[in-house]
Amino acid sequence: MFENLSERLGGVFDRLTKQGALSEDDVKTALREVRVALLEADVSLPVARQFIKAVEKKATGAAVTKSITPGQQVVKIVHDELIATLAGEGEPGQLRVDSPPAPILMVGLQGGGKTTTTAKLAKRLKERDGKKVLMASLDVNRPAAMEQLEILGKQIGVDTLPIVKGEDPVAIAKRAKTQAGLGGYDVYMLDTAGRLSIDEELMAQVEAVRDVANPRETILVVDGLTGQDAVNTAQNFDDRIGITGVVLTRMDGDGRGGAALSMRAVTGKPIKFVGLGEKMDALETFEPDRVAGRILGMGDIVALVEKAQQTLEAEQAERMMKRFQKGQFNMNDLRMQLDQMMKMGGMEGMMSMMPGMGKMAKQMEGAGIDDRILKQQIALINSMTKKERANPQLLQASRKKRIAAGAGMEVSDLNKLLKMQRQMADMMKKMGKMGKGGMLKQAMR
Ligand code: GDP
Repeated sequence: MFENLSERLGGVFDRLTKQGALSEDDVKTALREVRVALLEADVSLPVARQFIKAVEKKATGAAVTKSITPGQQVVKIVHDELIATLAGEGEPGQLRVDSPPAPILMVGLQGGGKTTTTAKLAKRLKERDGKKVLMASLDVNRPAAMEQLEILGKQIGVDTLPIVKGEDPVAIAKRAKTQAGLGGYDVYMLDTAGRLSIDEELMAQVEAVRDVANPRETILVVDGLTGQDAVNTAQNFDDRIGITGVVLTRMDGDGRGGAALSMRAVTGKPIKFVGLGEKMDALETFEPDRVAGRILGMGDIVALVEKAQQTLEAEQAERMMKRFQKGQFNMNDLRMQLDQMMKMGGMEGMMSMMPGMGKMAKQMEGAGIDDRILKQQIALINSMTKKERANPQLLQASRKKRIAAGAGMEVSDLNKLLKMQRQMADMMKKMGKMGKGGMLKQAMR
């Protein structure tokens, strides 16, 4: 999968990284080519546009170390943006199947690979998670659809609901629910009927089944080869039924891969798995960083830039420490600390790493400082001018009002932030006074 896209992008960046110095025009030209490559891979136009804009913005503000070229930096930015575009919330490959019997509703158009994927997922749940699974086919339209699922069930050693001719989908769903409860199943999967295209009857039927089953997961199965159509299908199903995730099938074919890139950005729904063949174990967890790596095919450069960035961060930390020892700690510093905290698992995570900070962590917790507040505080700092960030003592009433309004918060929130900044400045000063190589130095390591 993604071969065409990775070839095109690889070419663009090969040229870019071979040059030493890089002008703004070089980057612009390269990004134009990236845009064309994305569109050719059937990524939707708004997504391609948004992608390029995000890369451009990050590329202009990026800190560059001596050991890497600007071209390499751009590769890394594109790589990270690919991950951001592909990634959804939650762990990839996870299905919520707690509180047994957990219903999973499988939806999609006919021929997308729904029945095959139902069995693949059942096999995975059984083998990896040790779940007892029941599968039921609700496809009363397509001849032999029910038998197809039964055969697959036998093949993978997963039970299927006995077939009763003449029953309607809602009745089958009810029977599956009862059977799953009585039979001590952890999960029951409902394989709904597909149509060749979305129509009112199909949607109404799926809706009725959904209301009976109240599914924990509603998984849309779509053919990845259909590109933009797959994304439109997902959008339609989500609008009408509400889906929790997507499985893209036929990613073993030489599709253009654009569906994967557009899916999350357009529908907001994560791709949970990809189908990679007809066999029962041809199903893979969708992992955005791996896929981004495959699309770009420039792992060496990404690793190089990551390493250089670590060096840069270490240098910044060293410089910061020197300033703290002199008791200098402004809003820029606080902001950096807040960012860092978000990265390190929030307030508690960071404080637990600093010697002697346990008590302060408790106090902050007591003051209701959690990750949501961290984000609000960052928003407040973002709403300050450069000058204000460097000199928080400038903040008098009118400035405070403007800043709070800019961040959509109250002046009292800003006052809390200012108090925190003063406390941190005091603390840093005290720690600095404990001598070179003292507590602060240890804490910064
Ligand atoms: P449904 O109508 O949506 O239930 O589709 P089926 O599950 O019957 O699948 C239709 C055809 O697609 C079957 O021949 C499957 O073997 C095939 N198929 C399903 N998933 C994949 C996949 O990931 N890769 C490939 N190459 N074929 C697949």
